[in-house]
Amino acid sequence: MQEQDNSSRILTEIYDICDKLYTGMSKGAARDHSEVFNYLTELGKALAGADRASFWKWDKRRHELWTASATGTDRIVIPDSSGLVGKALREKKVIVTNDPYNDPDFNASVDKKTGYVTRSVLVMPVTNVNGEYIGAFQIINKLDGGFEEERDVRQLSLAALVCGIALESETFQEASMHDKLTGLKNRMGFYSDFSGKYTKVLNEGKPLSMFICDIDKFKRVNDTYGHNAGDVVLQFMSSLVESFARTDDGVYRWGGEEFIMIMPDTVLEDCAKMAESIRAKLEATPCNAEGNIINLTASFGCFTFDPEKSIEDNVSVADGHLYTAKETGRNKVVY
Ligand code: GH3
Ligand code: MG
Ligand code: MG
Repeated sequence: MQEQDNSSRILTEIYDICDKLYTGMSKGAARDHSEVFNYLTELGKALAGADRASFWKWDKRRHELWTASATGTDRIVIPDSSGLVGKALREKKVIVTNDPYNDPDFNASVDKKTGYVTRSVLVMPVTNVNGEYIGAFQIINKLDGGFEEERDVRQLSLAALVCGIALESETFQEASMHDKLTGLKNRMGFYSDFSGKYTKVLNEGKPLSMFICDIDKFKRVNDTYGHNAGDVVLQFMSSLVESFARTDDGVYRWGGEEFIMIMPDTVLEDCAKMAESIRAKLEATPCNAEGNIINLTASFGCFTFDPEKSIEDNVSVADGHLYTAKETGRNKVVY
């Protein structure tokens, strides 16, 4: 009888969470993925009947684990060589401990900082459909007693499965918006940011300016030093432009050797000053590409967004200015 009550309580909780998740997603409130992961983490907590839950993403390239969502604590980033989550992913297996303080792999630092007492932990690694390990669910403090691996893993699997699929889809989306060579956001990333944060700037009536720049005679770099050296130059250029970006500015790889920087709350003259600083810095800083010391220049077209015009029409104004810069001798800023 008690088990039935328990099951119907869990079922009601699941329905409530799924209802909120679906409503949030269909209204577009879940554009910020952390909200999706928050609901899914709540779901895991309810399914496993625990006090706390967190869902960890595994960044294999950086050897880091970071919380996509955690109930009860703030966002945390840890090395993947540490803690029970790291161990579960390394060893590709579920880890259960009902005596964490005596477990050498348990990282007690969060408890020490917050005063929370961890009594039991269950970590369930999560894979994508190809069986690659991409994250892990961590459930803390079973409400009635300790964890029982078989039963709790079975219950948690629903949340782990959906979280795995959501994470996989987010990873694909992220990858599609970034340029692999420079790590900058690409054109798709620009359009996505534009429809979000930059449109907000325009709607608030604030000026939004941007420049588009193109490395001069870049084809010659490839032809003289080879494609690999050309790639190094592109990385050099992206770092140089990025080093000038202020907190709210965005830098994107627009195409081959073209970059854009978008500057919220910035008038045209200030945008042109920024472009001029970058132009001068580039001219004064040779790039060392595979032992070749290469002098570079670039041309810049600046403009301020007209909120009445489409984004394409706006960008083509900057393109026109860039074209003028190229036609009138290169290595200059036109606005
Ligand atoms: P301009 O001053 O008129 O801009 O001349 P340019 O030589 O820079 O312009 P053009 O458009 O003729 O050449 C651009 C070159 O950029 C051609 C293309 O092969 C090269 N390119 C585009 N993407 C990459 C890349 O990812 N890596 C390398 N190495 N080269 C690239
Ligand atoms: Mg060029
Ligand atoms: Mg070009």
